[in-house]
Amino acid sequence: MSVKRIGVLTSGGDAPGMNAAIRAVVRQADALGLETYGVYRGFQGLVDQDWRPLTSRNCSNILQRGGTILFTARCQAFLVPAVRAQVGRDLRDAGIEALVVIGGDGSFTGADLLGRETGIPVAGIPGTIDNDLPGTDRTLGFDTALNTAIEAIDRIRDTASAHERVFLVEVMGRQSGMLAVHTAIACGAEAVLFPEGEGESFEGLVAQLRSGWERGKRASIIVVAEGDKVGNAYAIGERLRKDHNLDLRVVVLGHIQRGGSPTALDRIHGSWWGAEAVRRLAAGESGFFLGLKAGELVVQPLSRLRDPRPAPPRTLSDLVPILAR
Ligand code: ATP
Repeated sequence: MSVKRIGVLTSGGDAPGMNAAIRAVVRQADALGLETYGVYRGFQGLVDQDWRPLTSRNCSNILQRGGTILFTARCQAFLVPAVRAQVGRDLRDAGIEALVVIGGDGSFTGADLLGRETGIPVAGIPGTIDNDLPGTDRTLGFDTALNTAIEAIDRIRDTASAHERVFLVEVMGRQSGMLAVHTAIACGAEAVLFPEGEGESFEGLVAQLRSGWERGKRASIIVVAEGDKVGNAYAIGERLRKDHNLDLRVVVLGHIQRGGSPTALDRIHGSWWGAEAVRRLAAGESGFFLGLKAGELVVQPLSRLRDPRPAPPRTLSDLVPILAR
């Protein structure tokens, strides 16, 4: 059966570059003579049958915008097999014969289940600022979020130096230290705390700071991933202040990291993956997601998601204290 109408949705946390992917899906489909339906608010839109045709013209002027024109949501109902079965029937009734899902590992799991249970062909495009999907070196939004965090920390560094203070800066990444470690390297942090960090301890952090002071450092930036097992930035800050009488401030970058215009790389990857997803669905493929390995576009089965979550390279995290000398 050749596909004539495909659906596209964004799900989970929003990530800059999602709009580039939507635009590429719609315009590549258009070029192949296929129709695209935009599904609103992720899987919730599938449950509510909240979908509308999207044309190439609807995608004008969105490439450079953060967020997602299709909105995004988390949808508990989609965890229920009977709900997914109904979604499969509704999609068929609407003539939507294949689906592109742009999101993180949760969204890919939902897409995989929908595809296998209902036979609707599905394709995944990695869209999460966490960069924590197996099978791809990059996900949409990571590069932008990284650059946003670095820009913010460069400003914090100025005031940290002026006041000779320690700053704890919390970045996103509940289960993944990818953003924290890359941010720490790129902003020259004195230390980084992240969930996969081995042998991390409060005492280790204090020893690291102390050795910096002994070498004449008066200002320090410590990057903390929000999910770090040593504790969140406020708790660590309180302890450092109390036990070590430090002049210290805590900054939680929070949702600032999600917004903003996507970097060139996030626009390029979104465009590349969006178009490739449509070409492969049109050719009858299903159950895959797109990624990047060694600079090349790669195609992975959605079952790859069961592989371990990638951790930041040890060679990179080990560099943080060395480069802070
Ligand atoms: P991010 O990494 O940015 O958080 P994500 O895609 O991992 O993105 P989740 O909130 O984990 O975000 O998942 C998004 C949605 O995917 C959920 O709200 C739910 O609708 C669906 N989903 C997640 N896990 C499953 C599952 N095991 N079965 C079915 N659907 C799921």
